[in-house]
Amino acid sequence: MRIEIEADKCCGAGQCVMFAPTYFDMDDAGVAFALVDEADPADVADIQEAIDSCPTLAIRLVGD
Ligand code: SF4
Repeated sequence: MRIEIEADKCCGAGQCVMFAPTYFDMDDAGVAFALVDEADPADVADIQEAIDSCPTLAIRLVGD
């Protein structure tokens, strides 16, 4: 599954980095970006927690 972040929706809250630090980081402007494009199936639960905790619904998992 591919990880997508809508950067214009990100408010810099940082929950994604907290729940899945190997997948998300923040740039110098405080906007999240994906460190890895494809989700390892073993990590989908952590990534889903990041998705569920994002206050602006900026993250999606796409595909299978
Ligand atoms: S949880 Fe959402 S709003 Fe917060 S930094 Fe991550 S993508 Fe941005």
